[in-house]
Amino acid sequence: MSGKYATETLQANESGIARAAAILRAGGLVAVPTETVYGLAARADSEEAVGRIYEAKGRPSFNPLIVHVPSVERAESLALFSAKARELAQDNWPGPLTLVLPKRERASLAARVTAGLPTLALRMPDHPVMAALLEAVDFPLAAPSANRSGFISPTSAKHVLASLDGRIDAVIDGGPSRSGLESTIVAVREDGSLEQLRPGPIEVAPRNSSSGSGAIEAPGQLASHYAPGKPLRLHADEHAADEFMIGFGAITGDCTLSETGNLEEAASRLYACLHAGARSGKPRIAVASIPDREIGLAINDRLRRAATPPD
Ligand code: AMP
Ligand code: MG
Repeated sequence: MSGKYATETLQANESGIARAAAILRAGGLVAVPTETVYGLAARADSEEAVGRIYEAKGRPSFNPLIVHVPSVERAESLALFSAKARELAQDNWPGPLTLVLPKRERASLAARVTAGLPTLALRMPDHPVMAALLEAVDFPLAAPSANRSGFISPTSAKHVLASLDGRIDAVIDGGPSRSGLESTIVAVREDGSLEQLRPGPIEVAPRNSSSGSGAIEAPGQLASHYAPGKPLRLHADEHAADEFMIGFGAITGDCTLSETGNLEEAASRLYACLHAGARSGKPRIAVASIPDREIGLAINDRLRRAATPPD
């Protein structure tokens, strides 16, 4: 423990979820497993609770949070759904698709959640623990990834504790995250058009083509993100003695994303391999080429940002 909280590890059962719900009601922070990565949850209707998320992560205040809800109905009470948005939600929720929609003016949400934007990012997660927690409380949960801002995302309770032990009230240990990559973020514009702001496990919209219009629409798009804290070399067929190798397919590594070249498996193991590389004694990391198709597009997006040194 290092920090002002004695972080509790809770089991992913009824009593663990009840304890987590009590902490959240009191305005605390709980890291929760989802099918994408572990999220750092706080009640989205409290400025103070949401402020704690930014503080624990060291997250810049201009980077808005995704709000998690237990149903499409609850989502519709917070944002304005066009017919297209409703169709996307009905087809993909629960699941790893975040919709950016016009926020309802009367929605009971802390202003910090949206970082002052008139839009709101919403998702209904597909994970039994997060779903049970959302049912147990009567407010939506703001939940970014449960890691220090800019660093590797967590896909296990151990990863969460590696960066947030002592900085949050509790983590629910629900085992490894199934999908392993953050949700796809899609903005539904007023004219009905769609814009993908972040690639992820689901493909429903064309990629955002306008780069850098000024305001940061989805800071997940920042050039440097998911950083392992040491140089990362991409498209490596072989590696030097001082490089921790992350393999794929026929290229075996110190950590291999998928021996059979399966992209879904590679996505689910990406952050675990990056964490292993970050922890290893080797000063550098090399990663084999990943095919740029399907979820490989999202893997390569994360790898490019992880390979870009912070400013
Ligand atoms: P994380 O919670 O770390 O997965 O990051 C959440 C992502 O959602 C960030 O890239 C945010 O910029 C993005 N996001 C949240 N709210 C909005 C919004 N209203 N408009 C656009 N992007 C958003
Ligand atoms: Mg994140």
